[in-house]
Amino acid sequence: MSEVENRPSNFIRNIIDADLDSGKHTAVQTRFPPEPNGYLHIGHAKSICLNFGIAQDYQGLCNLRFDDTNPEKEDIDYVNSIQEDVKWLGFDWSGDVRYSSNYFDQLYAYAKELIEKGLAFVCFLNAEEIREYRGPLNAPGTNSPYRDTSVEENLALFEKMKNGEFKEGECSLRAKIDMASSFICMRDPVLYRVKFAHHHQTADKWCIYPMYDFTHCISDAIEGITHSLCTLEFQDNRRLYDWVIENISIEIEPHQYEFSRLNLEYTVLSKRKLNQLVSENLVNGWDDPRMPTIAAYRRRGYTPASMREFAKRIGVTKMENTVEISVLEACIREDLNDNAPRAMAVLDPIKLVIENYPQGQVEELTVKNHPSDEEQGTRIVPFSRELYIEAEDFREEANKKYKRLVLDKAVRLRGAYVITAVRCDKDEAGNVTTVYCTYNADTLGKNPTDGTKPKGVIHWVSANESVDAEIRLYDRLFTVPNPGAEEDFHTVMNPESLVTIKNAKVEPSLVNAKPEQAFQFERQGYFCLDNKDATAEHLVFNRTVGLRDTWAKIAK
Ligand code: ATP
Ligand code: MG
Repeated sequence: MSEVENRPSNFIRNIIDADLDSGKHTAVQTRFPPEPNGYLHIGHAKSICLNFGIAQDYQGLCNLRFDDTNPEKEDIDYVNSIQEDVKWLGFDWSGDVRYSSNYFDQLYAYAKELIEKGLAFVCFLNAEEIREYRGPLNAPGTNSPYRDTSVEENLALFEKMKNGEFKEGECSLRAKIDMASSFICMRDPVLYRVKFAHHHQTADKWCIYPMYDFTHCISDAIEGITHSLCTLEFQDNRRLYDWVIENISIEIEPHQYEFSRLNLEYTVLSKRKLNQLVSENLVNGWDDPRMPTIAAYRRRGYTPASMREFAKRIGVTKMENTVEISVLEACIREDLNDNAPRAMAVLDPIKLVIENYPQGQVEELTVKNHPSDEEQGTRIVPFSRELYIEAEDFREEANKKYKRLVLDKAVRLRGAYVITAVRCDKDEAGNVTTVYCTYNADTLGKNPTDGTKPKGVIHWVSANESVDAEIRLYDRLFTVPNPGAEEDFHTVMNPESLVTIKNAKVEPSLVNAKPEQAFQFERQGYFCLDNKDATAEHLVFNRTVGLRDTWAKIAK
C-alpha cells in the first residue's frame, strides 16, 4: 500500500479534504491542548495521534499548547512528563511549546473589548447565586442585577479585579449573552475569576484567571489553528467558542470539531480518578504499569508503534463506545511477535539433573533470537548437567493433552537436546523439587533416531549460569468492564493486579538488557526490563502481555 492509501479515513479528515478543495484553507494547523494537571493517558494518545497525525499527513503543523488556566491544580512535573510522552509517541510540535498563559495580556485586552462593546460585565453574585440565577435546563434563567452596569464602571471594576482589589469569589467577569438560551453555557458564562494563586509560568503577575471557554478559542485564533479538535463533551460549548471569536477583533476564525472520547474496558480514564489512585497509594505512582497512562504503558513494555496502531484501529467517530482491552493487547502482541527477541526465563523453578551428562561441562549452544526473522541473529545459551525448568512443566503422570515432561517420557529442551525423565525428589509437602533425566547426545538440532517421540518442547536455564530476576506479572486493575460507572471503584479493584515473583531464573544474556527492552520469554509472554527499579545486580522484568488472549476466556 502506498503511504497515501495507508492513511486513516474519518469524518474529520473528510472535512479537512473539503476545506482544502474549496480553498477555505490552504494549509492545516492543529493543536494538542492538555491541561497540565496529571499524566497523559491512553485517551490523550488518541487525541495526540489524531492531531499530530493530521498535521503529518497534510504537511501541516501541530502545536503543543498547555491549557494552563487553573494554576492550583497544575504542576511543572506534569508539564515535563507531557512533553516527554508526546515525543515518545513519535511526534514533535511546531516551534516552541506554547502556554495559554503566554496570551494572558491579549486575553485581558479582548475581555476589555467585550466590556467596551457592552458584551461583558463585572458581576457580584457569588458562585451559588450564579447557579441559581442560571436556572434549570427547561426554563429561562434570571438576569444578574449587575448586568446593566455602565461600560465605564465595568472597565473600572475589571481593572480593580486585576489589581487585586477584590477577594476570591467576590466578583467575576461574565459575558452578556442570553439568560434564556437553551444552551446553558450561553447564559452569561463567567469569563474571568479572581484567584490569588501562584502560577507555574506567570508566577504572581496575575490574580485573575480566564476560564477555559474564553481562553481556548482565543488561543486557537492567535495560533492560527484551522481545525480545533476536541471531545464531544464540548459540543454545546462550540456556541460560546464561536460567540467569543465573532465578537472580538481577531482575523482568523478557527473552527471546533468534536469526536468521541476513548473509553477502555476495565480502565478508568478520568484524571481525577487516576489522581486518586496515585494519591491513595492504590498504585505505585503515575507510571505504575497497571495505570492507563502513556508513561505506564511505556514502562510496561508497550512500544510507540503499538500505541499508534491502536489509535488507528479504534478510529475517530462521533459515536460513544467502549473499546475492549483485547484490541490494545493485539496491537502490542503483533508488534512484539515480530520484533522482540526470544529468551528463556523460568518463573517457578525446579531442578532438572541430567544424569548421563558430564559433570562440570558447560556447552555453549547457539540459539536463534527469532524463529523466523534471521536478521535478529543468534545468541549463546549455556547448557550443563543441572538446569532449571518450570515446576508446571513436569508431572509424574499425565494424560495425552499434557505436552510436557512426564516420568518415562521424552521432551525436547528448547534449542537443546531431547531428554527422558527417570525419577524425581519431593519435599515433605509432596512438591517435586528435582527431576532426574537422561539426555540423548545425538539430538541437538535433529530428531532422535531411536524411535523416541518427544511430546513437546519446554524451556530451561542452566542452574549455575542463570541469573536471578524479579518478575512482575500485571493484570487488570479492575475486575469489572466499566469501573468508572461504580459508585466506589475501590470495591472493584483486582487484588491480583500485581503478582511479584522474587526468585525467577533467567538466561545470562539478559544481564545486558536495556531499560524498556522487550523480550519474548519463551512460552511465557512478552516482558521488558523495568525502567525504574532494575539494576545490573537486580534484574526486574515487567510482563507486558501474555502470548495469547487468555484473560477474556477466564473472565467471561
Ligand atoms: P480527563 O477528562 O481525563 O481529566 P481532560 O479532557 O480534562 O481529561 P485535557 O488535558 O483537558 O484532559 O485533554 C487534552 C486533550 O485530550 C483534549 O483535547 C481532550 O479532548 C483530549 N482527551 C482527553 N481525554 C480523552 C479521551 N479519553 N479520548 C480522546 N481524547 C481525549
Ligand atoms: Mg480538561
